Amino acid sequence: MEGSIEQQTPPRDPIPLGSSALPRRTNGGPRRWLYGYTEGDGKDKRLLGGKGANLCEMTQIGIEVPPGFVITTEACLAYLAGDDRGLPPGLLDQTREAMRGLEEKTGKGFGDASNPLLVSVRSGAAMSMPGMMDTILNLGLNRDTLAGLIAHTSDPRFGWDAYRRFVQLFGKVALGVPDEVFDDQFERVKRRAGARVDVDLEADNLEDIADRFLAVVHEATGTPFPDDPYEQLELAIEAVFDSWLGRRAVDYRREFGITADQANGTAVNVQTMVFGNLGDDCATGVAFTRDPATGENVLFGEYLVNAQGEDVVAGIRTPKPVAEMESEMPDLYRQLEELRQKLEGHYREVQDFEFTIETGRLYCLQTRNGKMNASAMVRTSVEMHDEELISRERALMRVDPAHLDQLLYPQLRDDVEVEPIGQGLPASPGAACGEAVFDADRAEELGRAGRDVILVREETKPEDIHGFFASRGILTSRGGKTSHAAVVARGMGKPCVAGAESIQVDVRARRAVASGTVIEEGDIITIDGTTGRIYSGAVPMVEPDFSAELERLLEWADETARLKVRANADTPDDARRAIEYGAMGIGLCRTERMFNAPDRLPIVLDMIMAETTAEREEALERLLPIQREDFRQVFGVMTPRPVTIRLLDPPIHEFLPQEDQLEEEIRYLGRLREAVRGMEVMVETTELLDAEGAAALADMRALGDTRRVDGVIARKEAILKRARTLKEVNPMLGHRGVRLGMTYPEIYKMQVRAILEATAQCIQDDVEVHPQIMVPQVCTAEELDAVHADCRQVCAEVEEAFGVSLDIEFGTMIEVVRACLRAERLADAADFFSFGTNDLTQATFSFSREDAENKFLPFYNERGILQDNPFEVLDQLGLGRLMALAVEWGRDRKPGLQVGICGEHGGHPESIDFCHRIGLDYVSCSAPRIPVARLAAAQAEIRSAT
Ligand code: ADP
Ligand code: MG
Ligand code: MG
Repeated sequence: MEGSIEQQTPPRDPIPLGSSALPRRTNGGPRRWLYGYTEGDGKDKRLLGGKGANLCEMTQIGIEVPPGFVITTEACLAYLAGDDRGLPPGLLDQTREAMRGLEEKTGKGFGDASNPLLVSVRSGAAMSMPGMMDTILNLGLNRDTLAGLIAHTSDPRFGWDAYRRFVQLFGKVALGVPDEVFDDQFERVKRRAGARVDVDLEADNLEDIADRFLAVVHEATGTPFPDDPYEQLELAIEAVFDSWLGRRAVDYRREFGITADQANGTAVNVQTMVFGNLGDDCATGVAFTRDPATGENVLFGEYLVNAQGEDVVAGIRTPKPVAEMESEMPDLYRQLEELRQKLEGHYREVQDFEFTIETGRLYCLQTRNGKMNASAMVRTSVEMHDEELISRERALMRVDPAHLDQLLYPQLRDDVEVEPIGQGLPASPGAACGEAVFDADRAEELGRAGRDVILVREETKPEDIHGFFASRGILTSRGGKTSHAAVVARGMGKPCVAGAESIQVDVRARRAVASGTVIEEGDIITIDGTTGRIYSGAVPMVEPDFSAELERLLEWADETARLKVRANADTPDDARRAIEYGAMGIGLCRTERMFNAPDRLPIVLDMIMAETTAEREEALERLLPIQREDFRQVFGVMTPRPVTIRLLDPPIHEFLPQEDQLEEEIRYLGRLREAVRGMEVMVETTELLDAEGAAALADMRALGDTRRVDGVIARKEAILKRARTLKEVNPMLGHRGVRLGMTYPEIYKMQVRAILEATAQCIQDDVEVHPQIMVPQVCTAEELDAVHADCRQVCAEVEEAFGVSLDIEFGTMIEVVRACLRAERLADAADFFSFGTNDLTQATFSFSREDAENKFLPFYNERGILQDNPFEVLDQLGLGRLMALAVEWGRDRKPGLQVGICGEHGGHPESIDFCHRIGLDYVSCSAPRIPVARLAAAQAEIRSAT
């Protein structure tokens, strides 16, 4: 699998450029570059793009779709691969032929002045990239065809409206004229006409606008606006192809890791226009077959009467909830319900679809799998399975484990009463808090610097996408639940409040005003995407509970998965939390965390300061009961699940104060000594001169004792000396882990005794326990053998003292390269292995984590030298190889050897899949990652079984 560039997981191309594959179908004759909706293969999204394939599929299963055809992604690739960026030979001829087909179907003529055929030109790649590329509507209009359109509809207002929309879209998309130029003219006419909203504009206002648009295009491009419909079509097709390499699309693909292979080029859809703006029996809208915010099984969506589709998406007019259509247009509502059933029955997945009603006739313009937040994904998975729409495997596979994180997002605490300063639509659930920022670039800048920001806009556009990535949440003052901001935020799982119309956002002044409260850039605000409320300042938040649906889905996951999921948990509290998240045991309990508590640290200090073994044992003696109680509690919480306890790992100087801190303290004490000596002199002198006055100085005498200060100084100096002796050049590779256990065996013996005595106590209390003792940093079997021998000795003593028989598993962490290579021999002494992939990654790369992450890793990732951060994503090709060998060799020697992983990678889905494939028994991760890991483990099993 290794290519010329080293990558940790099988290669993904960095940015899809789409130059790799050239047309594969030749069939002798000229290449086929397009397919009509009645003939294209609805399964072939790669060739036809998602939108095109689904338009074909819908047409073929009898859903009403305006006639059209798809130009393939292969044509796009051929176009982009050419040096001159020309359309591939044959494409234009085939397009003309296909247009003639549309003319026949519709009875209209492309460029025909009496009954003109108009089309939309729409992009659509294999992977859905909503709003990332551009669409042109009403193509085919010019002065002549416009006259025909007006005559045909007897509606001049409609005609001019269509024309001005076309000129703007075409001008922007195909000719590169910036939006502002058009908006500017539009606002001028609107103001002059005294129109408050767009619908107030009359036909002659729109004509005025269209004329101005034509003029600004002429001015901006130096040539008149193209009138020939076929010239328009050609330019439009090229523009859609070009948009594949536009910044927005490239950014989007990079952010979502859409690879060249998944989305190679965009298809182009040329489709007969239908009009939702021909009158009050017309409408347009966007709907989901289920509520994408909650997952509830109800038709969900928004529509506008007498409008074009783009009005909904752009948030120009605030649409109505689709439920209102039931009373407003009952017959159409019924048709919409039917469409919904048909779509779900066919696709067996929640659909997000666009529709337009032209004079009472319902058309479906697009469908795709609905993007939902995690809780809606979980709920629909469980419910669609119960409705027998999908299998249990499908129910598990369709939820992205990484998205479960969303369910752990903070929610506002409901016991805190804070007055909101504004209310918008709850567009994407979850709460977020941060500094208000009014443009995407600034959001990106601050977000990169690690600040929490909330992006506040009137409305958002696809070009704001980079600001979304950097923000905790999004707030807009315009647009509905299907506006760009809402859709994108939901897809990203970020909280969003949209259409908060009571807030005036002034992007230029970088300020917003909400019911009298002024929000300047940098002011902290809180938004709640679940309720739509907006607050000033930081509102307290809580972790949400698991829903019943999530519990069920995760139960299915546990039944399906082979890998067990354990927690990294150090304390009884951690353990309790781990169980709430569904941990099946503890895979890593770090005993040193127990040393750090304030009641133990002085004893630990004595242990470190001890000059002799006897002194050290005396300190350890005092630690023993404390550790024993820690373990007993953890066992009590985890019963009857296994608990893996790691013996002391970090270098012991980590428990001492920093050297420079000690030096500073000693300096202060030195000065104090002088002051105290002064007090002594003061007291002595006063006693001599003035017996009465001396009585008043009693307090001073108590304090003025230089011997006490000297004692403290001596202690500090001893600690400093110790710290200097223990100081290491490279502590990570120094005197730590089992090496401490070798040189100070009494430390490990005390820990083992604490574990075993706690176990014995539990047995006496009838609490079932399965402790596993784990030795860190082992590089040779001799280390393990030595600790094992001590363990057995302590075990015998404890069994004797408590009159119980103990069944303890003994094993090793695998976190040293040599340990992997000596796995066979280590397996002799070990009942289990647990990969400590944090250290093992450092060792495999010879990277120290902090240095790597702070200095060169980001650069490596950007340059593609390394694809991921190996401390987050398990390096399958290098480290993984080592792991696979260790598993194989270990089990060769000891069949049934238990193997797990307890590095951070144990909570990362792709890495979990790898662990499954190399045959590990369990993964262990931090408590909040457990649901993610449980689902990922089930998916790994399903994937490997198919
Ligand atoms: P996107 O990929 O951004 O969703 P679309 O290609 O779906 O872009 O087009 C944007 C809007 O244009 C949609 O809301 C749709 O309703 C409208 N539209 C596209 N094609 C047609 C058509 N043939 N008739 C009417 N409206 C159309
Ligand atoms: Mg669309
Ligand atoms: Mg380690």
